Amino acid sequence: MSTIIERDKAFVASTYGRFDVELVKGSGAVLYDSCGKEYIDLGAGIAVNTFGACDKEWIEAVTAQLNKIQHTSNLYYTEPCTLLAEKLCEKSGLKKVFFSNSGAEANECAIKVARKYYADNHGGAEGEIITLKNSFHGRTVATLKATGQDVFHKNFGPFPDGFKYCEANNCDELKALVDNRTAAVMIEIVQGEGGVNTLTKEFIDCIKELSEKAGFLIVVDEVQTGNGRTGKYFAFQHLCLEPDIVSTAKGLGGGLPLGATLLGERVKDTLAAGDHGSTFGGNPVACAGALSIVDRIDEKLLKEVAEKGEYIKAKLLKIPKVKSVSGLGLMLGIEIDGDAKQTANECLKKGVLILTAKSKLRMVPPLNITFEQIDAAIEILKECL
Ligand SMILES: *Cc1c(COP(=O)(O)O)cnc(C)c1O
Repeated sequence: MSTIIERDKAFVASTYGRFDVELVKGSGAVLYDSCGKEYIDLGAGIAVNTFGACDKEWIEAVTAQLNKIQHTSNLYYTEPCTLLAEKLCEKSGLKKVFFSNSGAEANECAIKVARKYYADNHGGAEGEIITLKNSFHGRTVATLKATGQDVFHKNFGPFPDGFKYCEANNCDELKALVDNRTAAVMIEIVQGEGGVNTLTKEFIDCIKELSEKAGFLIVVDEVQTGNGRTGKYFAFQHLCLEPDIVSTAKGLGGGLPLGATLLGERVKDTLAAGDHGSTFGGNPVACAGALSIVDRIDEKLLKEVAEKGEYIKAKLLKIPKVKSVSGLGLMLGIEIDGDAKQTANECLKKGVLILTAKSKLRMVPPLNITFEQIDAAIEILKECL
């Protein structure tokens, strides 16, 4: 019998450069591989496991719902979906929610809403969406086109039209790109996959000002930054910004697939019956789990996330091979003197799971990681550098 790693290589599509380890279980920010070796987890399944592995409250919420009904389709009302939508509106100030199963789908919905809103207000004309260079919005054909990185566009065309790209933090370029065909500007407050780059306040102000003049919608992709990750419930809440559309996913489900597109006052009824849909979207089990997550992301937890982020940043900056640290809260990019991928592999051998983003190391640990775990992980990272 060959190993799981060998059989995976034989039978699972080779789309991922997986680390050489088979994970089997965990508790909070500690994970175990198939040989029983222990790891401190600084990746949380790419910012998904909000309260780490085997989070008791989440398991209880999910299993309680499983013991009632696992799925109904969207032809019927279910309580978890309704309550989660209500809660997300409370947390964000937006007005209505469309549920899907992933970040890419949450962005697909955002794109459809922006296009329809434009058409509704321009006699059926087709509008354009401006996204940022170095952004990441997903892997479906439309969200790949929205992603402002040429490497993702190679070999998968033809793509849907209607996207333009602006350099991040370049207000002059944005001004030149905006015209009467602009339906929306779509941004990540902190570009995750693009290298953990935070947009400047000046650029956000520039988008706001142009939006007020030109009337286009502001779409914020909070797939990675949302749900407490940056020390606010949503990253846009660090800024005086009132987006029209906010997409989120990753940490929302706490480990189960769940995406949400939050719709502001202007667009809350842009989609009518039949305009959009999803078989699994708003699944009661995923939503019941998410409710247990969202409920716990309160002011106290957000303050802890911000404190842990500052603590990690200060410690990292004392390491000679660390050149800079970017990001907000528990979403950090580390520019190092060395190769990020190689360093991540070294860390794995020594018992720390860490991610990369472009040429940087990236940390997005469970929000409940302890200070002791942080200390231990940084000690190991230091050795690996
Ligand atoms: C991960 C990510 C996505 C895509 O989410 P999937 O769930 O993989 O489809 C989109 N936008 C951002 C900012 C992300 O980080």
